[in-house]
Amino acid sequence: MNVGNNCYMASFLQTLFHTDPFKEIILNTQIHSTNITVKLTAKCLQEVFALMAMSNRHFVNPANLKKVLGVPWSQYGQQDAWEFGLVLLDLIEKGLPQSASIFSGKFRQAISCSQCRNESIRYEAFNSLTLQFPEKEPTSKEEEKEPKKEDSLHPNTYPDTLSGLLQFSFREENMCGTNQIFCEKCNKRQDGTKKVEIEESPDHLIINLSRFHYSY
Ligand SMILES: [Zn+2]
Repeated sequence: MNVGNNCYMASFLQTLFHTDPFKEIILNTQIHSTNITVKLTAKCLQEVFALMAMSNRHFVNPANLKKVLGVPWSQYGQQDAWEFGLVLLDLIEKGLPQSASIFSGKFRQAISCSQCRNESIRYEAFNSLTLQFPEKEPTSKEEEKEPKKEDSLHPNTYPDTLSGLLQFSFREENMCGTNQIFCEKCNKRQDGTKKVEIEESPDHLIINLSRFHYSY
């Protein structure tokens, strides 16, 4: 399925194709949308999936889908698989709303005030999880060149497995200094804690592993 630098697209499409409930919806649902881009995108994905599922071809060319999505996806440059996925799923959800439930879940965010113990709870829907790798504490040799960052982690406690990274991402965070919370009961900024949990998990979880290194 590679038509020049589109491995980012091919890998995401193949993952979607192998997500059975998603594939079923794409292949068996009538598209209802008056938006031409939404309609054509869903139709082109149906075409790609139908060829992948039923033809004897050795490869499938998603050229029509690329064209419909427009720049930069219609071009031949390397792109980010994640950004492509967001754009594609957003359009597909508009054309085939049933597909949204497969990947959607709900976060529960609890913010507590250390002063009055008041807890405020907020719920937020999500359809993917972005896990950010934390900064690694530099070794003493590296530290001479690059000073230690405030929120960097010691290599011994660094989460280098997926479950470690999940635990790290859903840890309780202390909110103080410039990160103080606003407490509605105290009616001012206070030290506090923030804890995010998954209240409702999706049937299929999309995880985006994000590793950025900033040099200030
Ligand atoms: Zn308070």
